[in-house]
This record gives sequence, C-alpha cells and structure tokens, in this order.
Amino acid sequence: MKANSALGMNEPNTDVAQRTIVVVGGGPVGARAASALASRGVAVTLLSTEAFQPYNRVKLTPLLAGDVQFGEITTANLTDPDLPLTVRTGMPVTEIDREHAYVRTADGQVWPYEKLIIATGSRAFVPDIPGRGLPGVFTFRSAEDASALLARSISARRVVVIGGGLLGLEAARGMLRRQAHVTVVEHESRVMPRQLDAGGGALLAHKMADLGVDAHTGVAVREIAGETRVAEVRLSSGDVLPCDTVIVCTGVRSSVRIATREPRRVFHWDVMACAVTPRFRSRETSKRG
Ligand SMILES: Cc1cc2nc3c(=O)[nH]c(=O)nc-3n(C[C@H](O)[C@H](O)[C@H](O)COP(=O)(O)OP(=O)(O)OC[C@H]3O[C@@H](n4cnc5c(N)ncnc54)[C@H](O)[C@@H]3O)c2cc1C
Repeated sequence: MKANSALGMNEPNTDVAQRTIVVVGGGPVGARAASALASRGVAVTLLSTEAFQPYNRVKLTPLLAGDVQFGEITTANLTDPDLPLTVRTGMPVTEIDREHAYVRTADGQVWPYEKLIIATGSRAFVPDIPGRGLPGVFTFRSAEDASALLARSISARRVVVIGGGLLGLEAARGMLRRQAHVTVVEHESRVMPRQLDAGGGALLAHKMADLGVDAHTGVAVREIAGETRVAEVRLSSGDVLPCDTVIVCTGVRSSVRIATREPRRVFHWDVMACAVTPRFRSRETSKRG
C-alpha cells in the first residue's frame, strides 16, 4: 500500500497535483470502486468508518455460521502493495468541504480530493422498542456485529431474532448452527413477507420448525425486558419468550447524513454518490467526467 504524502494533514492542501480520488465508505461498493480505479493506475484513498479491512458483507452470514473465516471474506486486492491505493480504517468522515475540495475525518485530519466518491451505504435500523439498549441485544450488519455475535454464541442458549426477513433468517441459521435455540418474531403474517406469499411463508415456517426454529408471525414486539441484561421478549399477543440474546434484524436506513447535510453544496460534478440504496439511485446522484 502506498502512502500519499498529501494526505492526513491538519490543514487543507491546495496543491491539485497532490490530490487523489477519495472514496468515503469501505463497503462492497466503495471497495469495488477503489479497487477498479487503483487497478487502472489512479491514486485512491479509501476512508472507512469500520475498524476492519474492507470485506464482503454478504459473507457475514457464512462467517456467523462458521463456514468461513474472516480472512476469507476480506477484499483481497485492496492490500496489493503495487496498487496506488491507501486504505484507512477507523476513519469516519465527518465533513465535506466542497469549496476547498477536502473531507475531514473524526480525528481532525483533512483529506484533499480531486474527485470524491460517497459510498456510505446503510446502517442497521433498530425500532424504538423499550429495552433495546439492554446488554444482550445485537444487530447483524457489520463485521463488528458478527464478531460480537460470534463471541456471544459461545454462551447463548436462547436467542430471539426480531425480523423474519432474509437477514433475520440468516442470523437465525447462524445461531442455530452455534447450538442455540432460536425463535423468530415477524410482525407481518408470514416469514419472508417480501419474497413469499401466504402459502410459501407457511411452507417455510414448517421447514424452520423441522430445523428447530420457532416462528411467531403477525405479532409485534412490545418490550425487550430484563433487569441488568436481556431476559425475555414480550409480544403484543401476550406471549413471553425467555431468552439471553436478541438479534434485531428489522431493516436498514441509508447513511446519507454526511452527504445531505449541505446538499446544495455537496452535490457537484466533483462529487459522486454510489450505492445500492434507492436514495442514491436517482436525483441525488450526480456524475460527470
Ligand atoms: C449479513 C448480510 C448478508 C447480506 N446478504 C446479501 C445477499 O445475499 N444479497 C444481496 O444482494 N445483498 C445482501 N446484503 C446486503 C448487502 O450487503 C448490501 O446491499 C451492500 O453491503 C451495500 O454495499 P454498500 O457498499 O453500498 O454499503 P455498505 O455495505 O452499507 O457499506 C457502507 C460503508 O460505509 C461506511 N461509512 C458510512 N458512513 C461513513 C462515513 N461518514 N465515513 C466513512 N465511512 C462511512 C460504513 O461503515 C460501511 O462500512 C447482505 C447484508 C448483510 C448485512
């Protein structure tokens, strides 16, 4: 990995010759963009909030299930020392100054850019359920989440997964493989409501029961309860599910705060936003040259 001497200073650098393409976000989209540009000889700096080297987020599912190790899911060519690529992890971007063409990271450093790519993706969405902050409540979105869940899986015996969509079922499968008893709670009338009709949902619930996973559908979570840590999940049906671990898989929200703070100033020909989230697909994406 080559260091760019223009980067990481405390004052903006106005020397265009020393500038580079800065990619904000080390998810699959940011990593792919950085890799593709660097492999064409373009100097790129990738700034990522996450503490981990960029990895394939989709593969967190087999990681949780124990089918792969973390080293197998990292984005390999980002560590190629022959590429003009700098990857900085643990570097959340807190400010974009388009006028002076630099971004600032939380530690106060400024990173000049010639072109800026915003690929900040999404974060886990946790609904405002009472008790959601108790120890023993997890999300499943990042390597950090997976790492916490893997550590938790050693002692987890009874797990409640809130959300019966694809991600919830993948989390359920992962914890099942770790020998925990798993219950899935879905507020729609069937599991995988976006993908399956009533018949398909019933078939899947039946299959899940065969595997030892209970599904409660058509009910809302009223409270996650426990004195010092999670002890049970209370449902709108009146059912109470004793548990030591809760995984909230209730969707994502776009991480657009950095890009929308000053939208009129940020969206500019030197700034590109790329993502698989709908908010960036249309009018908020500006590209040229
Ligand atoms: C377990 C799991 C399994 C999945 N399986 C599938 C699947 O099978 N098929 C499928 O199509 N999709 C799947 N997905 C969804 C898929 O992972 C996402 O669509 C994809 O990750 C989106 O990529 P992205 O790079 O746009 O955003 P993200 O992956 O969300 O990455 C954005 C990155 O930007 C960072 N960031 C945010 N703000 C800042 C900032 N201010 N400064 C610096 N960095 C910042 C974030 O920390 C994050 O690392 C799965 C997701 C998960 C969690």
